[in-house]
Amino acid sequence: MLPEPFLNRMKEMLDGEYEDFLASYEKEEIHSLRLNLLKTDQQEFAHKCNWKLDPVPWSGEGFYYEGEERPGRHPYHEAGVYYIQEASAMAVAPRLEAKPGEKILDLCAAPGGKSSQIASFMKGRGLLVCNEVHPARARVLSENIERMGIRNALVISHEPWELERSFKGYFDKILVDAPCSGEGMFRKNESAVLEWSAENVAMCAKRQAKILESAARMLKGGGRLVYSTCTFEREENEETIDSFLKRHPEFEQEKVLRLWPHKVKGEGHFLAALYKNEGEEDRALCRREEKGLPTREYRQWSEFCAQYLKCDFDGVYVKFGDQLYLAPQALPALKGLKVLRPGLHLGTIRKDRFEPSHALALALKPQEVKKHFHLTPEEAGRYLKGQTFSAEGEKGWYLITVDGYSLGWGKLSGTIMKNHYPKGLRK
Ligand code: SAM
Repeated sequence: MLPEPFLNRMKEMLDGEYEDFLASYEKEEIHSLRLNLLKTDQQEFAHKCNWKLDPVPWSGEGFYYEGEERPGRHPYHEAGVYYIQEASAMAVAPRLEAKPGEKILDLCAAPGGKSSQIASFMKGRGLLVCNEVHPARARVLSENIERMGIRNALVISHEPWELERSFKGYFDKILVDAPCSGEGMFRKNESAVLEWSAENVAMCAKRQAKILESAARMLKGGGRLVYSTCTFEREENEETIDSFLKRHPEFEQEKVLRLWPHKVKGEGHFLAALYKNEGEEDRALCRREEKGLPTREYRQWSEFCAQYLKCDFDGVYVKFGDQLYLAPQALPALKGLKVLRPGLHLGTIRKDRFEPSHALALALKPQEVKKHFHLTPEEAGRYLKGQTFSAEGEKGWYLITVDGYSLGWGKLSGTIMKNHYPKGLRK
């Protein structure tokens, strides 16, 4: 049952379209996924996979699929080949026009759908800061960044205002995919219906204004800010943007877009792209002192690279205890930040050897390693459960792949390929 005051607001807003809007709640559930361009492309995927996919009109890498396909259960999902994402949500990240080499902040990032889409446009170059205030949701975000094989992301967990001091005028682009009253989730999520109230809409609008203030302070002059919600309320959308523009004459509105569930095949979204005029100074306090971080090569890591890898890594080495990470060159100072992931996790430095991490496997392609071991989807299903395989070859680390997509590590000893898929992720 949809809340009566919500229906009255929609009737008033939509006028002659109201009946069509109401009828959209009777339609069948829509399923969609977005290919991860860091790992595949449309052509390659169509060649490898025979699912019936229909393109999402506003996203080159988005597709509708039939409910019975269950892509969430296929090993491709664990390989990060796609992200299951609501179709209208795919319209937002392209508006940032993210480019390799830029410094980009996704301020309300969990679980990471839009972050991973931004990352695919950045092609592993530049700095993507993914922030999520709630610690448990930040952990899910961090796992998704790993699964999608993203190399250049820093994952942190802060209230937006806590970041202002460090990052004043720092970012080229910022996405605020704001917490909202979630009216676009009503078809999928019963709790969004139960939580709805006019008071909650007003509370969300207030919170959105506050988050936007922080974003405005962290954006460079000449930078772009994209604001989005999955709700239909003017108070949380056009009115939030209008009052922001009144408070901030240095911003101009470039584009406002609404996707309505009765007009497109999707649950609905609002987005506004804003441009900040030149003139703001970059006064970020987060400059990293080169000497503060170890940049020397670690012997165990260098030996691992020489023995197993065929690719070079660009970035800054960061060590947390015995864990080695490779962060983007543009990494800010981490002091005072609650960091979940300071870049690509390479692995663990043991006394006499290097143990590669699961994140490294997911970020590598078979052509970037010296040894790989291919599995069919059926075999991959067993690998994900922890099964070992018999194999022949030189002993040592092998990148395990499914149809050419990396899935994890195996270590050959004798004729047994030991399974190094993380125990906590096993199916
Ligand atoms: N961008 C995400 C994606 O595409 O997967 C979805 C983000 S969701 C719409 C909004 C997020 O904002 C939630 O993860 C929520 O925990 C977070 N949030 C809640 N309160 C917040 C606050 N006061 N400041 C910043 N973020 C907040």
